Amino acid sequence: MTRTAAILFFWDYDTQWGADRSRSGGGAKTWGSLEFENTERLLELHAKYDVAACFAVVGAAALPGKRPYHDPAQIRRIHSAGHEVGSHAFQHEWLPGLNRRALLESLRRSKNALEQCVGAPVISFIPPFNQPVDYIKKGSFSLSERRNGGRDRTDLSSLCDALAETGYRFCRVSYRPLAQRLAERLVGRRLDRPARREKIADITCVRLNTPGGFTAPAIEMINRCAETGGLAVVYGHPHSLLSGGPQDQTHLVPLLERVAQLRQEGRLQVRLPADIVHARPV
Ligand SMILES: [Zn+2]
Repeated sequence: MTRTAAILFFWDYDTQWGADRSRSGGGAKTWGSLEFENTERLLELHAKYDVAACFAVVGAAALPGKRPYHDPAQIRRIHSAGHEVGSHAFQHEWLPGLNRRALLESLRRSKNALEQCVGAPVISFIPPFNQPVDYIKKGSFSLSERRNGGRDRTDLSSLCDALAETGYRFCRVSYRPLAQRLAERLVGRRLDRPARREKIADITCVRLNTPGGFTAPAIEMINRCAETGGLAVVYGHPHSLLSGGPQDQTHLVPLLERVAQLRQEGRLQVRLPADIVHARPV
């Protein structure tokens, strides 16, 4: 019997809240309005190929107000098109720098704002900047999180504790176990494998296994999961859809075509985080 193969597709919907907190050098950015404009195109593409995704939405964007910070109507449209709305923190905070009180507040405010906006439970969480990655139990150490996060910083265990306390059930995670990082240093490239569910502090977690975007590494992971079973975890940002980079629609469209083809052949399923929480193991 072949094992279940599935793709989990995420769009990190940062808006100007994320652009204001950019950590990619040069400080705040101005791409916030592109998040909304490009999402209209994305909704068309995902409908055309019938691929559901999880949109990881910054909670503050669901409050009443105008672009580039708010558009509750668009978030409702995402939800009513059959996509999952997950939380991407309240204002795209860098979580390692939050103490427990501030973390709980961000998680609660984001969940409340999104649930009131779409009128449905929000149970999935996608950490901004794919951090924290510090997770001692699996030998994943982050010196920069330890150096810059402060004495009461958030690591992956304390994040999942706080998620459980605030009613979330799923978290996308990105830590890399020590053995994997040592091997990667040796060969000079990422050594990703089809992902499996894992539990951290009662939260169902799935580890990212593509570098972001829709080029060869993502396609190869999808093909590999179709062969051997397991989850391919793919993500991008709506604001990067016309950037010319790995998240550009010129790469996205062939990936969606490949997913549709594999699904038609019965070799790949499209899953949402909420399904993963409730489903049998994959
Ligand atoms: Zn983000």
